[in-house]
Amino acid sequence: MKIKTNQVKVGSVVIGGGTAIKIQSMTTSKTEDTDATLKEILELYEAGCEIIRVTVQGLRQVESVKEIRKRIQERGLNIPLVADIHFFPKAATSVAPFVDKVRVNPGNFAIDSFKELIDVCKKHHTAIRVGVNHGSLAEDILYSYGDTPLGMCESAFRFLRIAKQESFDQIVVSLKSSNPLVMMKAYRLFVEMQKKEEMFCPLHLGVTEAGEGIEGRVKAAFGIGPLLLDGIGDTIRVSLTEDAIQEIGPCKILKNIPPYPGKLEYTGESQDEAVIHLAGWAGTFLLENPTEKIELKTPFGEAFDLDLKDKILQAARIKMTKADFISCPSCGRTQFNLQSVTRKIKKATEHLVGVKIAIMGCIVNGPGEMADADFGYVGSKPGFVDLYKKNQKVISQIHESEALEALIGLLKSESVWFEPLHA
Ligand code: SF4
Repeated sequence: MKIKTNQVKVGSVVIGGGTAIKIQSMTTSKTEDTDATLKEILELYEAGCEIIRVTVQGLRQVESVKEIRKRIQERGLNIPLVADIHFFPKAATSVAPFVDKVRVNPGNFAIDSFKELIDVCKKHHTAIRVGVNHGSLAEDILYSYGDTPLGMCESAFRFLRIAKQESFDQIVVSLKSSNPLVMMKAYRLFVEMQKKEEMFCPLHLGVTEAGEGIEGRVKAAFGIGPLLLDGIGDTIRVSLTEDAIQEIGPCKILKNIPPYPGKLEYTGESQDEAVIHLAGWAGTFLLENPTEKIELKTPFGEAFDLDLKDKILQAARIKMTKADFISCPSCGRTQFNLQSVTRKIKKATEHLVGVKIAIMGCIVNGPGEMADADFGYVGSKPGFVDLYKKNQKVISQIHESEALEALIGLLKSESVWFEPLHA
């Protein structure tokens, strides 16, 4: 049964309150490139995306959003748009009248500005998402709670209590992490805490920086699937380091995930569906019984089954068989071609079992959001990259053409590198 929540109106779409789960995604073009962003929005909408987010770094992007909105309306369409804000409250209050929802991150949005944002949103019937990210919690939250699921929930409630005082209930909450176990715990804890606080915000579910390919889909489904099966979650995004449109198919499968049949067996005909269903069911099972002794079965042969099993156990952090990659989905802030760079780094380093490597598009959010990665490759400005060891920057602004070699050099200097067997 679905967990009780308020209804939140995001333009023409209603989230929560027992309505169907809504699919979301985010554009990857620079928002100021209005042609490219509009094209992406229209394609996403055609593919079944119901709410679309664009990045708004500053006032220049606010102007672009106005233009994009105008061009959408000229086409007679009513596509709910969300502005993604980090660090710059003025961008939030300026864009709020022209979008259907504003997403703020409590880790980098001044709490004093939140009331001001609520005032603007009330006036213009704009919803807000309080979007907590495990990797970018505020300093004082980290000091009091650490980077824990409780810290994530407290981070959200600080903002929600202000909204409650202001009698503003058009708020959605997300508690994302690149670690599916952490996000699952955070959402479940939030549901418990909500009852005590008597606030019933709809929840947007996601595993952030899930990566790409089957690994990315497995991580997302492993985290989101079990929550949906428990009636938690009103909207979802499968964040992939791929073209945004590739996120919609997995979302459609996830939102209709059937109940865990008690055996990890898929009998249908679609490999995409098998990946999502089995990872989602395994999330339910492994959270209660962490073991590497799982058997899964599909009609696609033993090699497929074994590979999927390895990926599921890796997502569960039960058994690592490859390096783990945390790569952001990219957005208008991205400083390099995330898809090709991620593929290149993966190819060179995936034999390093147990090493977690983050590939992040920008220094604005990248270093904060790569949470528990051992090493980070982060776009610092167009064509240049910073390299990190844990959360410490160790190499600044190296040219992209030399960055992979420098990363390998860093892995060697930290004694985690060895030559791949096939080299
Ligand atoms: S880390 Fe990636 S997705 Fe997040 S803001 Fe930077 S470029 Fe965009």
